[in-house]
Formats: sequence, C-alpha cells, structure tokens
Amino acid sequence: MKKGQRKREKKGRKKNERKKKEENIERKKKERGRKEERKRENCLSRLYLLPDDALFNLKEGFHDVQKVRSRLRDLEFKTWCELPNKGKGVELFANRWITHHKGLTCSEWRDALKMAGNVAAVRAIPGRTMDNNCRHCGSEIETLPHVLGSCPHGEALRNTRHYKVRSAIAQALRNTRFTVFEEVHGLSTTGSTRRIDMIAFQDHRRGFTINPTVRFEIYKSQPQDVHKEKQFIYEPTITYYQEKYKLQQIDVISSEQEDPSQSSLFIFGSLFICHHL
Ligand SMILES: [Zn+2]
Repeated sequence: MKKGQRKREKKGRKKNERKKKEENIERKKKERGRKEERKRENCLSRLYLLPDDALFNLKEGFHDVQKVRSRLRDLEFKTWCELPNKGKGVELFANRWITHHKGLTCSEWRDALKMAGNVAAVRAIPGRTMDNNCRHCGSEIETLPHVLGSCPHGEALRNTRHYKVRSAIAQALRNTRFTVFEEVHGLSTTGSTRRIDMIAFQDHRRGFTINPTVRFEIYKSQPQDVHKEKQFIYEPTITYYQEKYKLQQIDVISSEQEDPSQSSLFIFGSLFICHHL
C-alpha cells in the first residue's frame, strides 16, 4: 500500500470518528431536551397549568417564573371569586393593605384578613352555634354584613367612620381649591327635606354633591347599583342646590359609575384617599 493511500484512509477514519462523536453529542442534547420538556410538562401539570407559549421566556427558552406566578395568581383569584359564600364581592376588594398593613395593628390586620375571606367568627358561619341570631340585637341572623352594616350595636362606630371618611374627602377637595360645604340640608322637588354629605365646586359652572357610601361587597355591579340608588334620592334636590349656590350644573357622586372613564370621580384624583384610610 502506498504511503499516500494509508494517509488518506487514516484521515477518513478520523473524519468518521469525529462525525460519530458529533452525532452522539447531538443525540444526547436532544435526549436531554426531551427529558427537560417532560420535566416541564410534569411541573406544569402539578401546578394545574396547560403548556402555553405565553408562559415562555423567548430569550432564554424556558418558562418565565414571574409569568407562571402571575398566571397562578390569576387562576387562584378566579377560584376564590367563584366560591359561593367566601367569594362574594371579592372582585370589588381594594387589597393594597394586605401587603403593607399600614395604619393597622397586627390584630386589626388579622381581623381584616378574616373578614375579607368571610371567615370572621360570626354566628352565621356553619357549625359555630345552634342559635345563629345576632348576640347583641337578636333581630337578625349574625352575618358579617349585619354586624358591619346594620346592627344597632355598631351604629356609633359606623357613624364615626362615615364622618371620618367625609371629612377626609372634604379636606382633600379643599386642598385642590374646591369650595366645600358639609352636611347641607336641602329640599327636593316633591317638598321633602334631604341632607347631602357635601357639595363641592370650584366655580359656578359645575358642582358635585358627594355622598360617600360604605357597603359590604356582594356582587360586581354593586357600585353602579348603589350609585343609581343615590341618584334616585339626591337628583330631586339638584334644582334647590343650583339656586342656593348659583351653579349651572350639579352631578351626584356616590361611588363608581357605569363607565368609570366617564365618572366624575376622575376629576378628583385625591378622592381616592378613601383607599388609604
Ligand atoms: Zn345585631
């Protein structure tokens, strides 16, 4: 065999070996990829998530932990909202206080969490007592809405809260150069007397009668219904206040309106101080 031929054969063998090595590496890589994929699917199925490209970090090529967490949070929130008893009104909760619990003592914060989850120790919770009538007034079943919203035992506290909210809103409006009058008596078109919580205006073109309302959250469209209820009560007094304060237009504000972007509340950014109380 000639020397040149042997050299060529050796070169060919080396080339084949290199090729085989590369193929091996490629095969192992694919196998590892398949294993990782199976692992990922397994993890997702344990978290009750379906494989979804939206959860991928395209740059890095793996699942983005933040996106997975956000999806899990959304799913958990949906499950919470669907609970027949403990999920009532959950969509309406303002929950910033849950993380910072600013202004609340530890026990107040704990109680607030219990109330948000509708697990506060009231008699209406199944299995607590044989007699589920209110332990203070006895006139109604002791539910959380009764304790917070209508039990005569808590009336003084409720009134104090209302005055506190009203004064805070009035002060915030005064800080933004509104003229505000609180607790103003008025007459409706039918001749009956009404009392608005406050009336605010900057000039004589437009004014607002504001009646802050605190209700136990039960369903999503509740703020709109409460707003309609307040409109029904206070709109007949608009003519009286227009004449009294020489205003061209008066809007009635109680809570969010049907289309929040059209809401007069958007005029007063500072009104949202209520969430910080
Ligand atoms: Zn009661």
